Amino acid sequence: MSINFEPLRKILELECEKSYVDSAVIGGLDRFLRRWTGRAVESITSPQLLNHFHRLRLLDSNYASLTKQQRKEWINKVFAFLPELEQFEAEKGEVKLSEEGIMPPPVASRRPLRAGGQKVASQSIDSSVTTLKGVSTALAPKFNRLGVKTIRDLLYFFPHRHLDYSRRKYISQLTEGEEQTIIANVWQAQETRLGGRRGTEAIVGDETGNVRVVWFNNPYLAKKLPTNTQVVLSGRVSLFGGRHVFESPEWELLEDRELIHTGRLVPLYPLTQGLHPRQVRKLVKGVVDQWAWQVEDFLPPELRQRCNLLELPQAIAQAHYPESEAAKDGARLRLAFDELFLLQLGVLGRKRDWQESQPGSPFNVKTSVLDTFLSFLPFELTLAQQRALGEILADLEKPRPMSRLLQGEVGSGKTVVATAALLVAAASGYQGAFMAPTEILAEQHFTNVGQILSRAGHQVVGEDNLCSYSGLLSHPLTVALLIGDINQARKQEIQQLILSGDIDIVIGTHALIQKEVEFHRLGLAVVDEQHRFGVSQRSALRQKGFNPHVLVMTATPIPRTLALTLYGDLDLSVIDQLPPGRQAVKTKWLKPAQRDSAYAFIRRQVAEGRQAFIICPLVEESEAIQAKAAVAEYQRLSEEVFPDLRLGLIHGRMSAVEKDEVMHRFRAGELDILVSTPVVEVGIDVPNAAVMLVESADRFGLSQLHQFRGRVGRGQEQSYCMLLAENPSEVGRERLDLIEKIQDGFQLAEEDLRLRGPGEFFGTRQSGLPDLRMAKLSDVALLELARSEAIRLFDKDPALEKPEHHLLAKELARVWRHGEAEWS
Ligand code: ADP
Ligand code: MG
Repeated sequence: MSINFEPLRKILELECEKSYVDSAVIGGLDRFLRRWTGRAVESITSPQLLNHFHRLRLLDSNYASLTKQQRKEWINKVFAFLPELEQFEAEKGEVKLSEEGIMPPPVASRRPLRAGGQKVASQSIDSSVTTLKGVSTALAPKFNRLGVKTIRDLLYFFPHRHLDYSRRKYISQLTEGEEQTIIANVWQAQETRLGGRRGTEAIVGDETGNVRVVWFNNPYLAKKLPTNTQVVLSGRVSLFGGRHVFESPEWELLEDRELIHTGRLVPLYPLTQGLHPRQVRKLVKGVVDQWAWQVEDFLPPELRQRCNLLELPQAIAQAHYPESEAAKDGARLRLAFDELFLLQLGVLGRKRDWQESQPGSPFNVKTSVLDTFLSFLPFELTLAQQRALGEILADLEKPRPMSRLLQGEVGSGKTVVATAALLVAAASGYQGAFMAPTEILAEQHFTNVGQILSRAGHQVVGEDNLCSYSGLLSHPLTVALLIGDINQARKQEIQQLILSGDIDIVIGTHALIQKEVEFHRLGLAVVDEQHRFGVSQRSALRQKGFNPHVLVMTATPIPRTLALTLYGDLDLSVIDQLPPGRQAVKTKWLKPAQRDSAYAFIRRQVAEGRQAFIICPLVEESEAIQAKAAVAEYQRLSEEVFPDLRLGLIHGRMSAVEKDEVMHRFRAGELDILVSTPVVEVGIDVPNAAVMLVESADRFGLSQLHQFRGRVGRGQEQSYCMLLAENPSEVGRERLDLIEKIQDGFQLAEEDLRLRGPGEFFGTRQSGLPDLRMAKLSDVALLELARSEAIRLFDKDPALEKPEHHLLAKELARVWRHGEAEWS
């Protein structure tokens, strides 16, 4: 612990002997001094001694740049002071580690969290943040940008993480790389130059030693750290020339108040330009101390206790300034539960409105037509199809309108199941509507349904957009296709037949439920490939006086947690099994150098009669630029790579008619290769397409890559998916590895959710997700708990009228008023 001046004396003597040419020590005198003073400074306990070091420029010597004469003068000066320095050192008392033990006591909490702060008379928790002391009119817009307008918003403005500065160490115990805290005395702090920039350098010490501290780019700090004050420093130390140095630690003077920047779990808030971490921490701390205790806990106490949740004020306070990791976790659990619980209550309320405000139509599901239909299928339904159909039939039998989401991969056989349900509707004397996202898909459905029905029944009418089958029902079963493509007179004719009830099943796009089409007795609406059959579509149906059963189908695998959250108002059926005999699509991730062999592979496949998709590189700027890039790529491919083959192009700037036209030609085999932008959803069924090439594949999410891949592998031939990736990031590489290995869409969706989070899972805009700050959708157990508690509460008191649910009703209204815009 004491400074050894001997090496310094020896080297300086040697330097004199060698006539000041800086050859006394290898590497030069300056370097030697850095090392020696670095070690010496660690044991300095007196500010005076340190001052001497500075005055003599021992800490920042510049011997190398001095003239010979200056060198001589400087060394003489040091010699002159050496005895004095040694004197200081000799008088210093020995310091031992604290008697109690090796570890220092933890940093004490100076003041209890609960503060009886004064409230401004008219101020409430919903007052603007501008009513807070310290929030100027200049500061308010910066908070607004972060979504913080009121005091309540600020209470709910949670840190994205905490730094663990709770581990206090003595200086002699500091280790590199760890986050740790010391309480030390400031020996000296001064402005300095660090790597050419102005900064602050300090020497601080405790009873075990001293350490150097530097703050880059912060020269003003020096003035805030007067000599002999107690300071708390939290951060990491690194090794510099063999010595420990604290680099830009958080700091705080040890005064008679609670620590907020150091010595504890310290919150890190999301920041916007012009907001400083220390400023935000201080402000939030004040608000938490004064206001958290005034937040009313809206959860019924009995529920809160059953679920073992913290009280709300406590949870809010601990979410910001937790006493421990455990307290922080407890706070997160409570706040995450609130988000999910309110969300579930909201969607359940919506479902109830949908189901109970108007009675639906109970179908007769014990109809022989179903058995006939199933017995004429050329295959057996898979177990998963049977289960889904069973769930649907159970709903259709009830007087409450069904509200169900049917999920299943492309090719899992959803259409068959939906067709069965439509038959039941017709057999019960109701009409069914089958809506596809595009006209070409509507046509495809019409053809498929026709094929299935003509096996079971006897086709008596077979026109382009109207078919009838006898032998299935007591009357001929009539199916119509209604799309924009057909001529006006014919369209009116079909509309008339729908109105008179002579058409049982009508297939078209979402335009079916819009103004022009009037039904006679609509009983079931099947909606294919739409993520959200939203409130507005339903009210459009209701305005026509119907409250039909609704079956929404999607091939986008949605993890269960997300499905329960996004579509909590729908019941969920999943076809998680493909019909037997399906081949896996061989998937391979390729480097750019392999592009030519990928093209050669496509050429060979085309020679064997197959067709291929090429997905253009993703260009993010805009759809127009995207389209332009696609046109260029199409030209390059047609002219330079495949001049002898037939190529087609499809992009988002083309009209629906143009797109349909190209897809028709591709399906009819008139094109060998379809070049497409990634944004165009080609849900089209082309069994002969066996190759998919995706450019810049690392830029897509797993679910989207899986969707691309789903366009091939629909026929008998072995299909292939080639993924080109230029320079994938680590996450990108992980995705590509996963998709090479995993064929199952649900498993991929779970991985996607894990890798990207729910916001990006669908694209933020589409997700319609309310702001979940604390809840993670990977938190299945908590989500299930919130859902079951919401259902339980709903059973007891659906309108939340009981006095003990009064606060909850208020909170629900508040949260959903915010969310409503996104949700409708
Ligand atoms: P989805 O709508 O889910 O993409 P489809 O209903 O269009 O799937 O079915 C895809 C193909 O698989 C169709 O040709 C259909 O006839 C066939 N299919 C459906 N169910 C089965 C099954 N259980 N066994 C064999 N083939 C089936
Ligand atoms: Mg389909």
